[in-house]
Amino acid sequence: MSRSAHPAGPRYADVLPEGHYTAPPADLNALDPKVWAQTVGRGEDGAVRVGGVDVKVLAEQFGTPAYVLDEADFRERARAWRGAFGQDADVFYAGKAFLSRAVVRWLYEEGLNLDVCSGGELTTALSGGMPAERIAFHGNNKSTEEITRAVESGVGRIVLDSFQEMVRVAHIASSLGKRQRVLIRVTVGVEAHTHEFIATAHEDQKFGIPLAGGQAAEAVRRALRLDGLELVGIHSHIGSQIFDMSGFEVAAHRVVGLLKDIRDEHSVELPEIDLGGGLGIAYTSDDDPREPHEIAKALTEIVGRECEAARLRTPRISVEPGRAIVGPTAFTLYEVGTVKPLDGLRTYVSVDGGMSDNIRTALYDADYSVALVSRASDAEPLLVRVVGKHCESGDIVVRDAFLPADLAPGDLLAVPATGAYCRSMASNYNHVPRPPVVAVNDGEARVIVRRETEEDLLRLDVG
Ligand SMILES: *Cc1c(COP(=O)(O)O)cnc(C)c1O
Repeated sequence: MSRSAHPAGPRYADVLPEGHYTAPPADLNALDPKVWAQTVGRGEDGAVRVGGVDVKVLAEQFGTPAYVLDEADFRERARAWRGAFGQDADVFYAGKAFLSRAVVRWLYEEGLNLDVCSGGELTTALSGGMPAERIAFHGNNKSTEEITRAVESGVGRIVLDSFQEMVRVAHIASSLGKRQRVLIRVTVGVEAHTHEFIATAHEDQKFGIPLAGGQAAEAVRRALRLDGLELVGIHSHIGSQIFDMSGFEVAAHRVVGLLKDIRDEHSVELPEIDLGGGLGIAYTSDDDPREPHEIAKALTEIVGRECEAARLRTPRISVEPGRAIVGPTAFTLYEVGTVKPLDGLRTYVSVDGGMSDNIRTALYDADYSVALVSRASDAEPLLVRVVGKHCESGDIVVRDAFLPADLAPGDLLAVPATGAYCRSMASNYNHVPRPPVVAVNDGEARVIVRRETEEDLLRLDVG
């Protein structure tokens, strides 16, 4: 799919060019529960409420743009994953999706573990109170300093990504008088059906050690010989925003095949298998994600079946959902600045954020939905493009959306399912300070990550 291939669309839905949209929804005021956090709904006056708080109050109190996170929804999703996998498995939340100390505490309280992949994420995880043994450290280029800190603080697992790193971790652990638990990340040669930049298990990419050509088997051989390491398992992460379980099926088959080869060669049965994350969520009503219990059942059955066939004891399974937990819990609240109809082309609706708070549309051609949330409207649907305030024409938030034709400056829009990979990938492009994350629960709103200020920008600029 080419980014430049989108034809100019008409303003109404009577003649639709190719695009992501089909027809205007039957009810523009409806909020599809698939894409919105569970406490989101319209009040009697038509304005949207979340966690019992009116979005107009949120905008007034915290300003726009703002990420608004439904704490009850977050906790419930975390609990659903934890419950679905039960006591014989571990759920590691992928911190890169969105991490803050409040989130770390919720995860801890709900019984989840945590994946980090940088010193900054490790610091946040520890500072938020996650016990080190419940943390796994990832990344394809962990620095010596990061590895040292991880080993010193006692992280439960380091996921090894290369031969060189294996030696580094072993050396650092030995010199600290420790034996570090590790997994080896392998690439199983699966093409996940997702965007190229977020597919991670085909062989020609930077992550992991290929199973092909016996490279992963060689990595295991070396890891078993290194004193500073305790090899506990094999890790595979096939990509992100995946709906089809067949990729996991092939991955599990190949990882269990490696476990069998290890048993045959070394008489060692590794006790753990980590199948990564990547489970898709609904960004628009067209997406149909699976429930955690369905995913858990499918993955557990696949691994059980493969192990039985290989006559292996079933290893402890880990999964690493990031997006599937935090993605649907938040929306981005924007204020409409200008509405610009271009005759014969389309209407551009500009909001007070953009690619600095949501890079995914520009980066992955991601689809989002959007709704007018400060009021209900009976106006006709208008096909619009929601854009940001940055100095690039690619600064698109929602490529094609239907909004009420009476949309006007000062109206509040919300883009749902922005909990994952939006704040965590946010930038200061155009020196626009990054928005806050506001958590709402039971009628109360509180800032968990404050808005960046212009003073923050100047503090980094030492002149
Ligand atoms: C990104 C990542 C995840 C989480 O992916 P989601 O799509 O957010 O579920 C899990 N594990 C690893 C190793 C990752 O890199």
